[in-house]
Amino acid sequence: PARSTLWSVMASCAVRSRFDLVNLKASVLAPIIEALPRRIGVLGGTFDPVHIGHLRGGLEVAEMMGLDELRLTPNARPPHRDTPQVSAHDRLAMVECAVAGVATLVVDARELQRDKPSYTIDTLELMRAEMAADDQLFLLLGWDAFCGLPTWHRWEELLQHCHILVLQRPDADSEPPDALRNLLAARSVSDPLALKGPGGQIAFVWQTPLAVSATQIRQLLASGKSVRYLVPDAVLAYIDAHGLYRASN
Ligand code: ATP
Repeated sequence: PARSTLWSVMASCAVRSRFDLVNLKASVLAPIIEALPRRIGVLGGTFDPVHIGHLRGGLEVAEMMGLDELRLTPNARPPHRDTPQVSAHDRLAMVECAVAGVATLVVDARELQRDKPSYTIDTLELMRAEMAADDQLFLLLGWDAFCGLPTWHRWEELLQHCHILVLQRPDADSEPPDALRNLLAARSVSDPLALKGPGGQIAFVWQTPLAVSATQIRQLLASGKSVRYLVPDAVLAYIDAHGLYRASN
C-alpha cells in the first residue's frame, strides 16, 4: 500500500486507541512508512483556466494509483502552443483556488519562476534531483498531449525520469505518430498498478471521461455564457472578480 494510505491507517489507530501499545506501534512503524518509496504525480498544463477535466481526472488517478501527491505545474511560456490568454499570475492563482483544501493535489509553481520556455524534461530533472533514488515519479498526460510528445524538447529522455500515465480525452481524436506506436510497443504495460521502479514505462489509466477543455471554457466566457460546473466555484469567482476571458479582454 502507498505511504499515504498507511499514514491514514496509522493516524486513525492513534486517535482511536486509548492504549499506549498502539501509540508505541505508531512510533515504531512511522520511520518504516517514511522509508517507503514516495509516489509523486505531475500534471503540467497551461491551465488557461484549470477545469474539472484536469481536477477530477487528476484526483481519480491520484487515488487509484495511491499517489502521495499530485503536483499541478502551470507552464510559463509553453513552447508548443499559443501564448496563454491570461497572465501566469492569474493562471497560478486559479489553480491555487481550485486545489485549496484537497490534501493530495498540490501546486508546483517552479516553471513560472524560470525565465525560459517550460520544458517538461527540465522540470522532471529538477524533481528527480530532490527525490530518493527509488521514489516513483508519474507524468500524467491527456491523450492529446501524449500524441504530441515527439515534438517535445528531449522527449526521448522523459522515461529516464518517470513513468507516463495516459488519461483518456473524449474531446480529442488525435492519432499517435509512428514514433509513439513504437514506444508503446516497447514500454507499455496494461496494468498501471504494476508499474515498477522509479520510471521507464507507460500505462493507460481510466478516469471519468470529461469532454471539457480550456478552449471551450474561454469560448463560452467570450460569448457571455456561463461556465458554472465546468470549473470549481472558487475558480469561477476568481474569473468573475478579475473579469477574465470576457469579450472586452
Ligand atoms: P486548451 O483547450 O487551452 O488546449 P486544455 O483543456 O487541453 O487546454 P491544458 O492545460 O492544455 O488544458 O492541459 C493540461 C493537461 O491536462 C494535458 O495533458 C491535457 O491533455 C490534460 N487534460 C486537459 N483536459 C482534460 C480532460 N478533459 N480530460 C483528460 N485530460 C485533460
